[in-house]
Amino acid sequence: MSEAATGTATSILDVSDVSKSFPASKDLLGRVTARLQAVVQASLSIAPGETLGLVGESGSGKSTLGRLVMRLLDVDAGRIVLEGSDITEARGSELRAARRKMQIVFQDPQSSLDPNWLVRDIIAEPLRAYGVTRAEREAATERLLVDVGLEPTHGARYASEFSGGQRQRVAIARALALEPNLVVCDEPVSALDVSTQAQVLSLLESLRDRRGLAYLFIAHDLAVVHHISHRIAVMYLGRIVEVGPADEICRRPRHPYTEALLSAMPSPNPADRRQRILLTGEMPSPVNTPPGCRFQTRCTHAMDRCREIEPELVAFGDVEVACHLHDSGPILAGASVTVIPRK
Ligand code: ADP
Ligand code: MG
Repeated sequence: MSEAATGTATSILDVSDVSKSFPASKDLLGRVTARLQAVVQASLSIAPGETLGLVGESGSGKSTLGRLVMRLLDVDAGRIVLEGSDITEARGSELRAARRKMQIVFQDPQSSLDPNWLVRDIIAEPLRAYGVTRAEREAATERLLVDVGLEPTHGARYASEFSGGQRQRVAIARALALEPNLVVCDEPVSALDVSTQAQVLSLLESLRDRRGLAYLFIAHDLAVVHHISHRIAVMYLGRIVEVGPADEICRRPRHPYTEALLSAMPSPNPADRRQRILLTGEMPSPVNTPPGCRFQTRCTHAMDRCREIEPELVAFGDVEVACHLHDSGPILAGASVTVIPRK
């Protein structure tokens, strides 16, 4: 495997070949008769202070991968290494120690924040769980409220009194209470209106830069992911199909799926606007995925080989792509897929 996939000794997070399936159906006796492959052999690494964006349509396995990283779910196979320690099987105090170093922010602060709690108690709760004294908790909570752009007096209110954007600020403050080095942001702005999205994104950026945080930033919207990420991993039906520097992924997409996501992105400059490549049909079911490339049913470039052999990620410089357009023939060998004329 290439270095880009496995990371280096300086990574904060190294995920290698992680897979996760769920029971999809059971017979009358409760025996599992089919499994759904939510994540298939995913590898990624994140450096300190770096934001890796994880993008793909709904159902592609992004949240499952985020939960596996957070150890909210157990992997079926693969390895998760946080700051050099293998936490794949961590339990008890080892897992508690890991949880201090990484936190998660969810899409919907409405359901992730208890409406019956005062905001200051929500933010201080992780501190209490880790034995921080009351006086220190109060001081830390005030600081965190200010850090996320709220007022210290907001601590005495209930989260239910706040707007969606303010609630997401509270969720971010709580995630930062234990001073983690890595934050998994799972669609943190997807439930917000566009202007609030921009404000929360810029808050996340400034917190990252001030505190040297690393993010695994999950979203289905490539424009949002591009805005905040240093590198982007594109996920389709459980697999990472392309990964590389954010600008490179968005300027020269190597995978036809990335190209399709990009062409759906609004561009302020009409001259930049790509010919819109419509993703026709639905993403196939992750149960009993047919052999070959998972994108073949929607790919305008699909060849015989794509229906038979699943493409592996191949590195071309600092970009990796899993597509037979690059590894057999080879037609593209790492060049942008946009050079192929459209029919
Ligand atoms: P995304 O976040 O990209 O929308 P998810 O990781 O939520 O994707 O889901 C990936 C696939 O796994 C979907 O088909 C989803 O229905 C399935 N899935 C996720 N969580 C579970 C679960 N706990 N049990 C069964 N299936 C699940
Ligand atoms: Mg999700």
